[in-house]
Amino acid sequence: MPKLLLLPGDGIGPEVTDEVRRVAERLTNDLTIDERPFGGASFDALGAPLTDDTLAAAKAADAVLMGAVGGPKWAAAPRHLRPEAGLLALRAGMEVFANLRPAICYGPLADASTLKREVVEGLDLMIVRELTGGVYFGQPRGVETLPDGQRRGVDTQVYTTHEIERVSRVAFELARRRRGKVTSADKSNVMETGQLWREVVTALHAREYADVTLEHILADAAAMVLVRNPRHFDVLVTDNLFGDILSDEAAQLTGSMGMLPSAALGAPGAPGLYEPIHGSAPDIAGQGVANPLAAILSFEMALRWSLGRPDLADRLADAVQAALAAGARTRDIGGQLSTREMGDAVLAHL
Ligand code: NAD
Repeated sequence: MPKLLLLPGDGIGPEVTDEVRRVAERLTNDLTIDERPFGGASFDALGAPLTDDTLAAAKAADAVLMGAVGGPKWAAAPRHLRPEAGLLALRAGMEVFANLRPAICYGPLADASTLKREVVEGLDLMIVRELTGGVYFGQPRGVETLPDGQRRGVDTQVYTTHEIERVSRVAFELARRRRGKVTSADKSNVMETGQLWREVVTALHAREYADVTLEHILADAAAMVLVRNPRHFDVLVTDNLFGDILSDEAAQLTGSMGMLPSAALGAPGAPGLYEPIHGSAPDIAGQGVANPLAAILSFEMALRWSLGRPDLADRLADAVQAALAAGARTRDIGGQLSTREMGDAVLAHL
């Protein structure tokens, strides 16, 4: 039986993952659900934000669903014991190198976008961001003082063939199960790594994915097309730095933080890490008003990409659509429902 590990975490994390559990239990009996403390909750109970046992359980699961971590209570803890350090260690330990961020515009919420309804309605794009390489990790890096007293900061953008291929492969595989189109964004006009990126993606496409449509775009042009005509894209694959920026831009096309799921995937067959993009929201934690849809939609991604149940993922996506169409709204998207009531609204359409 497939195994799901829930890591509720801190703040609103446990509130939204409770709704995931209810949805999962309604959808299927064919899933073992385990749960462990994580982040600040794990620091309080077990002395570390991520214990060896929890990491081992994550690696042994088929999918891991994290709520959120962090909060003022742990802000003064040493850096390596902060809740956020646990999350970075979990991502590194699970070796998840491809970050998937869908931007879907639900018809009933189209007017919540800052763009016009006719530009965003029906939007369904997937950004695949390289997560463990590039300029955030490249060496050398640092700030030095020069002999003349000036300071000099250095970051290094580095990519290998292997790193580019494995993340591009994720994008091509996703496109095959979607609308069959990959757009690869780089800066091949001005960067050596960009040129290599373009060559490697082109070669992989010719070798293994000729059935998928491939298009290249400069990352700055991609930023423009995202706001002018976002429905141009199906799957958009890019490096760590450009992906960081473009995925936040895409997220804003659709409105609230409380609606946005994400996934991080590693090698084929390895467990994926699924999480809402929002944090622990200390300002509303404990009030039962958080929107659980980002967490529920993260579970929908887990069903699709790690648990081998695209049929149940479709049912869940339809139920969320139907709940929204029927007017279900938490406070962040202009309504009055509590977290539990929003969960109920989704369950009612399953
Ligand atoms: P946040 O995402 O927690 O909150 C930002 C704003 O969005 C808040 O006003 C919050 O109330 C609202 N919001 C977020 N999720 C919501 C939801 N599901 N429903 C309704 N409203 C929602 O970001 P922050 O306030 O910058 O950070 C708070 C803490 O979370 C910090 O400790 C930070 O380090 C941590 N954090 C964790 C993650 C993660 O676990 N992946 C991500 C971001 C921030």
